[in-house]
Amino acid sequence: MSSTDPVLYEHTTDGSARGSLRLLQLYPRDMNIYGDWGNTLTLARRAQWQGYDVEVLAYDPGDELPTADGGVDLVVGGGGQDSGQERIKADLVERAAELRAWAADGVPMLVICGLYQLFGHRFVTATGGEIPGISVFDAETVAGPGRLIGNITLDTLDFGKVVGYENHSGLTTLSEGATRFGTVVTGDGNNGQDGSEGARADNVIGTYLHGSILPKNPAVADWLLARAVEHAGGTWDPEPIDDPVERWAVRAREVAMARPR
Ligand code: GLN
Repeated sequence: MSSTDPVLYEHTTDGSARGSLRLLQLYPRDMNIYGDWGNTLTLARRAQWQGYDVEVLAYDPGDELPTADGGVDLVVGGGGQDSGQERIKADLVERAAELRAWAADGVPMLVICGLYQLFGHRFVTATGGEIPGISVFDAETVAGPGRLIGNITLDTLDFGKVVGYENHSGLTTLSEGATRFGTVVTGDGNNGQDGSEGARADNVIGTYLHGSILPKNPAVADWLLARAVEHAGGTWDPEPIDDPVERWAVRAREVAMARPR
């Protein structure tokens, strides 16, 4: 592990544990804006509600990645400015093979905006510089002339309507045959042109949706947790959540989807 304490957050469930999950937050120091940390909190809390002990680890440049068999069950990464992407790029390239192997092994991951771009082949910045990606997604991103900003709603096959907030200059193009995360209902998505938003490969979801995305889209959170529990050798068999927070999530979705761009 790194010289600093990598454990960001630890919580044991109130009752007898059904199991334990280990979440890894990638680059929280440089890639973590517009509420992206809320995704990690949502995953941890929803797992606890279902009886799982949760440990959240941070990984920043220069740290050691936990070994795969040490059990990383879920990886989360946020967005960041171009400058944040510059700061992590060398480290990310060094970790590419490991992260790709985890993805191929079925480890679920959620990467937002700036990290979504770097999970593709490359991001070409507004000054023509190239930040290499790790090619989990067959996609590439080139900085556009303006910014794509505002509330966004998607149709998705697995999660129904998904709602969030986008703010990016990068225009992402998926290669033919690559799978989108969703189709834009309102907003711009990958490039403002072809109606696609985000990408999926194995159990990895990449998307421009900040917001944070998971508190308002519990179906996505629970899908990630289901894959994480399966990866740990168990079965996700959730009890209904009778909690005001769950009703707030539903209400937050409704309000967000009714907002102007
Ligand atoms: N720097 C990237 C862009 O503007 C990513 C922005 C973000 O992560 N919000 O395209």
